[in-house]
Amino acid sequence: MRFEDKAAIAMGAGVRLKEKVCIVTGAASGIGKEIALTFAREGGKVAIADLNSDAAQSVADEISSAGGAAIAVRMDVTDEDNVQNAVNNVVALYGGVDVLVSNAGIQIVHPVESYPFRDWKKMLAIHLDGAFLTTRACLPHMQVSGRGGSIIYMGSVHSKEASVLKAAYVTAKHGLIGLCKTVAKEGGKYGIRANVICPGFVRTPLVDKQIPEQARELGISEQEVVRNVMLKETVDGEFTTAADVAEVALLFAGFASNALTGQSIVVSHGWFMQ
Ligand code: NAD
Repeated sequence: MRFEDKAAIAMGAGVRLKEKVCIVTGAASGIGKEIALTFAREGGKVAIADLNSDAAQSVADEISSAGGAAIAVRMDVTDEDNVQNAVNNVVALYGGVDVLVSNAGIQIVHPVESYPFRDWKKMLAIHLDGAFLTTRACLPHMQVSGRGGSIIYMGSVHSKEASVLKAAYVTAKHGLIGLCKTVAKEGGKYGIRANVICPGFVRTPLVDKQIPEQARELGISEQEVVRNVMLKETVDGEFTTAADVAEVALLFAGFASNALTGQSIVVSHGWFMQ
């Protein structure tokens, strides 16, 4: 953990999520971890929900040892019972749930004509079933609390745009926008908001794994993948950072009214402009 985050958590620096219970899936790594640290810095009680329970525990320990509130929860977002039980456990411990960040995700790249069906199903299960199951498990608690809630889906520029080799990812990330808009409409009367964050490329383990894979599939060097594929359309050739994405998550999580719902915001150094 960065010193400034540790100090901020220790001093209770932020208050934008004071006492809000936040479940973040895929929070053991990358973007989800950064969101969890940011929410803890702002006074949230954070459930680090991840398939990788050891890594989730170490993120929760980092936050707790800095004086914040966090627990690790083993969750496979594709498993209906596991999601339901994990959410129930968080609610039993912390007394409710105010913010859900459906962030867990993976990437598998192949051309469409040779995309293995099992990989296609795995991609849709993690990205779409995961978003649906976690939403369904959290909604009833948000509905009865009288406090409303915020549901945030981790989309991608690929919620708006396509790239070669990414049929399943692009399909799933577009699908999240449909789910978000429906949840926003159904949630309005309870003060439950739903929004999508659409990041450009962020250097996390998910992207680091793709660079050599894409170089192989496209027959180009790894530097060319970064320069001519990943960052080609940005305004400045820069990667988006996990901290950039976490700031937008904080905006959605802490926003006080239904004025900001059913939206998808692109954070990508101008790669995609709407
Ligand atoms: P990451 O690989 O660093 O982290 C993903 C986390 O999800 C890991 O901790 C992993 O254990 C967890 N996970 C995987 N399958 C799971 C499952 N079935 N149940 C629960 N947890 C599971 O990846 P990241 O780059 O931080 O990506 C996070 C999200 O951001 C993903 O949805 C990804 O599609 C999206 N995204 C990433 C980028 C990027 O450039 N890194 C860009 C746009 C969108």
